Amino acid sequence: METIVLGAGMVGVSTALALQQRGHAVTLVDRKPPGQETSYGNAGIIQREAVQPYAFPRSIATLARIATGLSNDAHYHWGALLRLAPQLLGYWAASAPARYAPIAQAYSRLIAHCLTEHGGWIEAAGAADLVHRQGWMQLYRSAPVFDAAATQARTTAATHGLACQVLDTAALAAAQPVLQMPLAGAVHWQDPWSVRDPGELVARYARLFVQRGGQLATGDAMALRQEGSGWAVPTSAGPVTAQHAIIALGPWAGALTTRLGYRLPLFSKRGYHRHFAGGPMLTMPALDIERGVMLAPMARGLRLTTGAEFALLDAPATPVQLRRAEQSTRELLPLGQPVEATPWLGARPCTADMLPVLGKAPRHAGLWFNFGHAHQGFTLGPVTGRLVAELVSGEAPFVDPAPYLAQRFL
Ligand SMILES: Cc1cc2nc3c(=O)[nH]c(=O)nc-3n(C[C@H](O)[C@H](O)[C@H](O)COP(=O)(O)OP(=O)(O)OC[C@H]3O[C@@H](n4cnc5c(N)ncnc54)[C@H](O)[C@@H]3O)c2cc1C
Repeated sequence: METIVLGAGMVGVSTALALQQRGHAVTLVDRKPPGQETSYGNAGIIQREAVQPYAFPRSIATLARIATGLSNDAHYHWGALLRLAPQLLGYWAASAPARYAPIAQAYSRLIAHCLTEHGGWIEAAGAADLVHRQGWMQLYRSAPVFDAAATQARTTAATHGLACQVLDTAALAAAQPVLQMPLAGAVHWQDPWSVRDPGELVARYARLFVQRGGQLATGDAMALRQEGSGWAVPTSAGPVTAQHAIIALGPWAGALTTRLGYRLPLFSKRGYHRHFAGGPMLTMPALDIERGVMLAPMARGLRLTTGAEFALLDAPATPVQLRRAEQSTRELLPLGQPVEATPWLGARPCTADMLPVLGKAPRHAGLWFNFGHAHQGFTLGPVTGRLVAELVSGEAPFVDPAPYLAQRFL
């Protein structure tokens, strides 16, 4: 069966591989080579521990810290808050404890499969050299915050069968000797994997897809149109037609789904990164949680990534959080030289209820969705890729797709 996948990020490439495995003749269409957008610029962690999606803060104190710029976790453009008000109100409402609990359960059912699904593709793609399997750390500067987080981490680990080790000041200093100031402690999540070049992992998966007979084509997904009982898109290699089309456009999915008449509560949380080369390296990614910055050792140097920026997708860059992150990280360790002249800017593709949107498009035969993976799309790509491929192929799905279907918003 001919199938088009639109978008060659982690989600699209994984979906293409899973469809191909089920006998589909797949054309993967992107305006760029695979893995050059959000799936390039992230922190590269395959987050087995991420069983709870990021909720909208409900405490007045946290909101006040963000509003007054005291927290580096979030930054916002006023104009975007007004434009995105319906989505953000939906996000706030979905984060109320009673609504959040079943959402987190549905989220954790996907996360549970991330290592197995990635593991298979990593082996088949010969990409083990990119992957470290020793977990990542949350760093804490102040004792009360650390104590509360350690208790919470132990509960989460016990509930979900995860491995976590709590390190005190001395144990952390021994584990990460490059840290030049004493910290209160750390939580080391031991199950997750980290990737030293996330874009390259997507590129290796895409190479496997091509080796197995898949077609890569350059084209504009916005030109997708219905043709007969199927779908067509012009590409640089000529028009491609297929019975099925899958939208896996990450933060750009909303542009196409809106054009097709779907009103889905989508928005972006933008994020920045910059590499620093030549300085001392941590042995694994570490989140300086009280300063809102992830320090990820990568092929190009130490990659500093930032938290959420609530801004329109195409608004000019305002790397306020990255500037603060650079300053606070210099307290922890000597940073090397910046690699990029200007920081990388990308956008996490978010939904109001924190769950991805996947499965059949409610009003179009042969059209399928797979987007909205927010903070964990690099982790979840192979999981939702398999799920969507099973649905398209009429197989029994390995995870109940009901919580992620677009119908919930329509
Ligand atoms: C700073 C930061 C840190 C993060 N850290 C992590 C992490 O550690 N772990 C984790 O799991 N997740 C992380 N994420 C989230 C993760 O990166 C995203 O959820 C994931 O990359 C989304 O993948 P995607 O394939 O849906 O989107 P993308 O990777 O953006 O792919 C979408 C593709 O669509 C293509 N496209 C768009 N428009 C068109 C068009 N009109 N025509 C043709 N092609 C088009 C793009 O070129 C792109 O290749 C992070 C995100 C950020 C910003």
